[in-house]
Amino acid sequence: MFLRKRALERIAHEKVLFERHRGGDIRLCVVYPNVYRLGMANLGFQAVYHIFESDPRVAADRAFLPDPDEREQIHATGERLLSFERGLPLSDFDVIAFSVSFETDYLNLLTILRMTGIPLRRAERAGRNYPLIIAGGSAVFLNPEPVADFVDLFLIGEGEEMVPEFIARCRETDSLDPAARLHALASLDGAYLPDYFAPVYDAAGRLARVEYGGCGRSRVNRRLIRDLNRFTTASLILTEESVFGDMYLVEASRGCQWGCRFCAAGFMYRPIRYRSPGALIPEAERGLDHRRVVGLVGAEMASVPGVTDVSMAVAARGGRLSPSSLKADCISPALATALARNGNHSVTVAPEAGSERMRKIINKNLNEPEILRAAEMLVGEGVENLKCYFMLGLPEERDEDVLAIPELVGKILERTRGQRRRVGHVSVSLNPFVPKPWTPFQWDPMQETQELKRRVALVRTHLMRLGGGVELDAESPREAYFQTLVSRGDRRVGAILARLSAEKREQPGEIWQGLGAIRREVASGSGGLVDPERFVTRHYARDEVLPWDFIDHHVEKWFLLSERKKAHFERQTKPCDVTTCTLCGAC
Ligand code: SF4
Repeated sequence: MFLRKRALERIAHEKVLFERHRGGDIRLCVVYPNVYRLGMANLGFQAVYHIFESDPRVAADRAFLPDPDEREQIHATGERLLSFERGLPLSDFDVIAFSVSFETDYLNLLTILRMTGIPLRRAERAGRNYPLIIAGGSAVFLNPEPVADFVDLFLIGEGEEMVPEFIARCRETDSLDPAARLHALASLDGAYLPDYFAPVYDAAGRLARVEYGGCGRSRVNRRLIRDLNRFTTASLILTEESVFGDMYLVEASRGCQWGCRFCAAGFMYRPIRYRSPGALIPEAERGLDHRRVVGLVGAEMASVPGVTDVSMAVAARGGRLSPSSLKADCISPALATALARNGNHSVTVAPEAGSERMRKIINKNLNEPEILRAAEMLVGEGVENLKCYFMLGLPEERDEDVLAIPELVGKILERTRGQRRRVGHVSVSLNPFVPKPWTPFQWDPMQETQELKRRVALVRTHLMRLGGGVELDAESPREAYFQTLVSRGDRRVGAILARLSAEKREQPGEIWQGLGAIRREVASGSGGLVDPERFVTRHYARDEVLPWDFIDHHVEKWFLLSERKKAHFERQTKPCDVTTCTLCGAC
């Protein structure tokens, strides 16, 4: 009752910006595998819910990972998780559709499944009348294997492209028995049915090959929409409780033209697609009817065509445009002026690395004078605080590269304090490098956690010498360890996730302890699970079969390898020019 009461209170505080439909006879629940305040801040989740909700054949509902106190109650009483709007047990739906943006939420996916009373593993549900469990979202595009034993069918592609086809196929096949229906759904372009793909491991425990037992192509085609302007991706349900509760969010782009070698978004969403200023400006203005701040969402916002015009249009209506991240050399004087005029007290720039050498290795296409010029310009125009985002533990990183981070911050302070307007403070965000599938660094390991802690301490000590005005926020290497495990893991990681969820290890510290126990068992030859280290701190060989190789992202593997080689020789690649280039295979 207490769980239902909170859901009803939340619904009462929501502002729904679209007309709701009565719905059809396919009962479908879209699940965000994290808590409500994060789910409602996720544009991808909102968009996919809306696509289902607006289809007259579907009666769509939502569900979220319960809050920690709700989870405690569910764990203690064995209550079932209920859907958000209708308050129905999830087991009453025809389809449960997980929308997974972050791979660390794979563990929550299992926690949620346990709360439904539906058998956890796909094999235990096979051929029986349970809801169909599907999953999509950017985490799934990259590597669905850690949850392949628990999900019936994955949709590897963007929702706008795949969901209408999925609904149509669901409707056509609703008289079939569960097994026949699943196979019929698997013939959708972009669908991944794990039953068809059997991983085979060699004596050393490496993935030797994947045996394909389906018909047609043995690689799954990742589906993207070509023209972003055909769809509006913006806030559809507003609630103060969302982590971006004061903002109306508008998606400005998918992908990124710059090709930073660590960044999954720059490769998995190729080619880069922008929403035109003609579509962005009216959408931002519509947002101002509801919120004073318009959050512009995408990988890199300073390169978005017409971003200055959007910023000026928002300012003219008394609002503020808040871009997610800006590449320093793309910040024009006009954009800096517009951002400051908007009342942005804080702007994020992302040098990612402190030294020129490291920025070449990661293909940042950004030099120190450009970073300092951007900082000076932003502060000169009235931005009070700067947030600088750096990574630690990148491939080829040396101590001199680590020390270059506080050096660069010192130069930013120096440069922005000698002018009419002074920077208030610089916050430095340090994030461990997590190797991601489908990037040139997918073969590289994550740095050891102890070594990362040493490097963080090195940065901290040198930042302290700069005096006041600098704040340090360092992400935990232990959390990055888990993220790497689920990013680079194969299907055997599913057993690790099942163990963690059975032991109700949900918080980062508990997960770390659980992984430590598994590693000790592996070292003593007991337990039967695979060593997490195999996926986290091991170099993958260049000729090794990778767990995600069966997905066709249209980016050629030789291209990723050549980018990795160029990183070693500190050579950069020019940004994408989608009008003439055919280099990587995506255009
Ligand atoms: S083909 Fe060229 S322009 Fe297109 S995504 Fe690849 S590198 Fe970029």
